[in-house]
Amino acid sequence: MEKYSYDEKQRQIIEHSCIPLAIYQFINHRVVTIALSDGFIELFGFQHEDRPDVYALMDNDMYRDAHPDDVGRISDAGVRFATEGGEYNASYRSLIGGDYHIIRAQGKHIYTDNGVRLAVIWYADEGLYDEVREAAYDRQLAEDIIKSNRFLKGSYDPMTGLPGVNYFFELGDAAFRQMLEEGEQPAVLFFDFNGMKGFNERFGFSEGDKLILAMSRVLIRHFSTENCCRFGGDRFAVYTKKAGLEETLAHLLTDVKEINNGNNLPVRIGIYLHQMEAVGIGVACDRAKMACDTLRDSGQSAYSYFNEKLLQSIQHRQYILDNLDRAIREGWIQVYYQPIVRAANGRVCDEEALARWIDPVKGFLSPGDFIPVLEESGMIYKLDLYMTDQVLVKMKKQEEQGLYVVPTSINISRSDFEHCDVVEEIRRRVDDAGIGRDMITVEITESVIGDDISYIQRQVERFHELGFKVWMDDYGSGYSSPDILQSIPFDTIKLDMQFIRQYEKNKTSGIIISGLIKMAIGLGIDTVVEGVETEEQAEFLKEVGCTKLQGYLYCKPIPVDQIFKRYEDGTQIGFENPAESEYYSSIGKVSLYDLSLSSNDEEVLKDYFDTLPMAIVELGEDELSFIRGNRSYRSFIQSHFAIPGLGMRTKFEELKKGSQAPLLQAAIQCAQDGRQILTDRKTRDGRIIHLLIRRIAINPVNNTRALVVIVLGISDEETLDRSLTYASVAQALSVDYLDLYYVNLEDESYIEYLPDADNGAMA
Ligand code: C2E
Ligand code: MG
Ligand code: MG
Repeated sequence: MEKYSYDEKQRQIIEHSCIPLAIYQFINHRVVTIALSDGFIELFGFQHEDRPDVYALMDNDMYRDAHPDDVGRISDAGVRFATEGGEYNASYRSLIGGDYHIIRAQGKHIYTDNGVRLAVIWYADEGLYDEVREAAYDRQLAEDIIKSNRFLKGSYDPMTGLPGVNYFFELGDAAFRQMLEEGEQPAVLFFDFNGMKGFNERFGFSEGDKLILAMSRVLIRHFSTENCCRFGGDRFAVYTKKAGLEETLAHLLTDVKEINNGNNLPVRIGIYLHQMEAVGIGVACDRAKMACDTLRDSGQSAYSYFNEKLLQSIQHRQYILDNLDRAIREGWIQVYYQPIVRAANGRVCDEEALARWIDPVKGFLSPGDFIPVLEESGMIYKLDLYMTDQVLVKMKKQEEQGLYVVPTSINISRSDFEHCDVVEEIRRRVDDAGIGRDMITVEITESVIGDDISYIQRQVERFHELGFKVWMDDYGSGYSSPDILQSIPFDTIKLDMQFIRQYEKNKTSGIIISGLIKMAIGLGIDTVVEGVETEEQAEFLKEVGCTKLQGYLYCKPIPVDQIFKRYEDGTQIGFENPAESEYYSSIGKVSLYDLSLSSNDEEVLKDYFDTLPMAIVELGEDELSFIRGNRSYRSFIQSHFAIPGLGMRTKFEELKKGSQAPLLQAAIQCAQDGRQILTDRKTRDGRIIHLLIRRIAINPVNNTRALVVIVLGISDEETLDRSLTYASVAQALSVDYLDLYYVNLEDESYIEYLPDADNGAMA
């Protein structure tokens, strides 16, 4: 539609009228100013010579001087008047000469001789908006709002006065058509502040609102009101011409630095140029937003264009979504399994099911290629439930073949909870398959929890009530608040791969890992470290009490047929008997770094090590084996005693022959009755070592017992007479007494001192 223009004579009559009136036309969904009278210019406090500027202002930023609280309501009323007809009647506050005045605007439509519809609006200044009038105005306002309460769903954003999203799309579509007719290239821009959440938290929401409002003013200044839209929050979209865009953006970026008196944020801008592919404004906005999101980590204001790479990622996304059902139906999605190994015995105690998409066109796709797409679209629940089904099929097959079945982890995503009752869906599948609920473990990544701790807490409790174990995956990849571990009763935490990745490079990483594991032990939670690739990493993790290990060192994720092939070849890592899981869990949880030396400890000890030497030994019916030991233990004990190395089994017969027979006797005693024992041993070079032996677990399957042996101190023989160790006191007393107990009177726990027939000392 063409813009109407009066002939010169008619225009003069209107412009010279002292009645404050304006004539508008509605073209391509926007209000265009046709004529303004002298009365209008005066009423709003403009100068006559500024008339051309006032025309431009009315076209681009009609409500610049209106009170921000009124803009949304009156612009919405304006659009309804333009689109639905009827009469226009609105009151609002407008800034005139520095003060707000109450303006009443009334209008109706007229038709020109050649049938063009125009709107005539006349205005009245009802006086200053002061305290006296405030109450009257508010009453009037309330009436207006009640009369036109539809404005709430309105075409304009009440806060900024910019068109709402739907109306913006209408405006944009019309403008696109016109630009293309005129040979112009349309462009759509998407704006977003970096760090608005933090800004609101720091300065409060009203300051945040001020910043958003200031941004809307900058956008209006550069692009005009009807070209802009607030997409909610701190996000805006704009359509404009490509010509001159970069120049406009350069000015805009300078202006943005100054807004809200300098208390502002960097803004990122994504741009979609229509020449790339002719799409509607909605799609163009989406693409501009994608380009905008690529600048997420940018610390300063910047803009970026939607490009070929982003287009490909959209096409890839579409491919995944279009083919998910088929991929499931036709078996393109396969389950790979990765074993999880118990630190204490090196046997497979769990497996994790990981999805692979083997596509007939695109080839092998890793989870990173399709999981985020499925998560974002909410479709991931289909995959997760399919994975559950497949895991159950495999378990049944293993059972049928008489093979060990270990609990298997399935990964679930946040959107699973939103798109189905995933707790109930998993329960039903597991029960229908006749598999024990304790055989399916649910892994939930830390990032899933977000701000909504209580919701996830409830879901974890539901899984628990049904008998499923729930692990937290990737702990440390997000904010890792210890609060989460306290509030949500996870059975196990999996430390994020990044920690072990950095272990060799960065010493602090080892400190963090051992700290996290210590915390988990304190909370009674098991730990898994994933991404273990070297023996050195595994050794360290065993020392600090990590319960389970997962990584390429043991096995990469493999498909189910390879698992069965490994059974046939006999090359599979041995499986743990589930009945022994508890026993090995207790052994694994002892941190061999727990008893580090404090500054008060004996100087002589410090010469040797910075951690008390500790080891875990296992006593079978007739043999002893050292299964875990820390570095201090390995470097010190082994050089002073003829004791077998880690992993070695030695027959009691053998040990009884050597000088360590009394030590063996003490260990056997402790293994049997479970009482702690303090004992002194003589080293080869004549020093005395004070040892504590404690039983930690009994294997219910074969009755082996695990003991922890800790070196508490070392003395030279000549100083021993003077040093009053418990054992030396006990030795003196043993002359007169048969049984000695060191009793803690507070909690009545006690340690027994055994008579040591061999060297007259107490063991
Ligand atoms: P995740 O659950 O943390 O799985 C561990 C990832 O680490 C797997 O990657 C595994 O292949 C990899 N990994 C294991 N050991 C090592 C190692 O020693 N070195 C290295 N470099 N990597 C190792 P994958 O299979 O690519 O899975 C990535 C993520 O995708 C998973 O992380 C999980 O969050 C998600 N995912 C995989 N399958 C599914 C699924 O069926 N459903 C859902 N919801 N998510 C899944
Ligand atoms: Mg996982
Ligand atoms: Mg993980």
